[in-house]
Amino acid sequence: MKTVFKNIILSIFLVIPLLGNAQYHRQESTLYFPDLDEYKTYKCDFHIHTAFSDGQVWPDYRVTEAIMDGLDVIAITDHIEYTPHEDYLNCDHNSSFEIAKQEGERHGVLVIKGAEITRSMPPGHLNAIFIQDANKLDTEDVMDAVAEAHNQGGFIFWNHPCWDAQQPDTVIWFDIHTEMYNNDYIDGIEVVNFSDFCPEAWAWAKEKDLTILSNSDIHSTTQMSKFVKHRPITLVFAKDLTESDIRNGLEDKRTALFYNECIYGDEELISQLLIKSLLIEKRYDKENNKIFFDIHNISSAPIILIPSDNTPKYAIPKRLYIGAKSNIHFYVNTKDIDTRSITLKVENFFTGTDEELDFNLDL
Ligand SMILES: [Zn+2]
Ligand SMILES: [Zn+2]
Repeated sequence: MKTVFKNIILSIFLVIPLLGNAQYHRQESTLYFPDLDEYKTYKCDFHIHTAFSDGQVWPDYRVTEAIMDGLDVIAITDHIEYTPHEDYLNCDHNSSFEIAKQEGERHGVLVIKGAEITRSMPPGHLNAIFIQDANKLDTEDVMDAVAEAHNQGGFIFWNHPCWDAQQPDTVIWFDIHTEMYNNDYIDGIEVVNFSDFCPEAWAWAKEKDLTILSNSDIHSTTQMSKFVKHRPITLVFAKDLTESDIRNGLEDKRTALFYNECIYGDEELISQLLIKSLLIEKRYDKENNKIFFDIHNISSAPIILIPSDNTPKYAIPKRLYIGAKSNIHFYVNTKDIDTRSITLKVENFFTGTDEELDFNLDL
């Protein structure tokens, strides 16, 4: 009896650390970004495949992955024109959404109905999300498909314009894209797709006032996918976790991209995201002209700060790397500094191609 009791006690001690580790691991890998003043920050992936087109998994598993990654919103966007498993499955184009939606409702993940209109270039592939009936997008003429998606109230974006399988040597905006754009059929564009960043897409988004998106376009599982450092996601700044608020966020271009441990987006939005991500504590040592800083980054994006050229070299470390969900300690030497703040470049927050965000560290 004594031995049994001892074994139970021993098992408890053995199990507790294992449970602790598992929980810890989950928290570390779950994506987190703070809310802004007026809007909440939602982590979204608007381009996802399942076995109902050429994806490898059942639709409800996409919700499981979303939970593991800490996502709030996913869109199921199976190909309309490419369904290699149709001998084994009913490839009704609405089925994958229906299955994922039920699972999403059980776990608080918002699942949006979508489809990928899949053509050779031009126009390439376009995603339509917030649609009513994906089967009606199965049309001969691609313009009829986007018109139908638009008439269903869909939000349409051009996928992976830089994909080298479709644009190997050049990245061109074709006449058919202009025709779609003039008809109000293109609302957004993927600047990031899977492991690729497309600078041309970002330039077009700025020029034509399109919403920028960053999506996984996942076919395999998240664990098996060779993402650049992490799953790429779109941050949508919206009032609430509802279809209409997320849609409003997309329409009003309240998005930022998280890709390759960098943030891309509108200056005002990502500047606020940065400020909300940093908890700053200061301690003054006036006698020695020093200010000791303790900065905690609560977000999943590392934050890399570089002093501007006019800051004296001895004043502040030449590169401050604040890891995701991590702390940093350093001091500023205020001798000969007459400003009330130091201007830093945020090396991994971009407001345009090669345009880094500025951040003022108050002294
Ligand atoms: Zn595609
Ligand atoms: Zn796709």
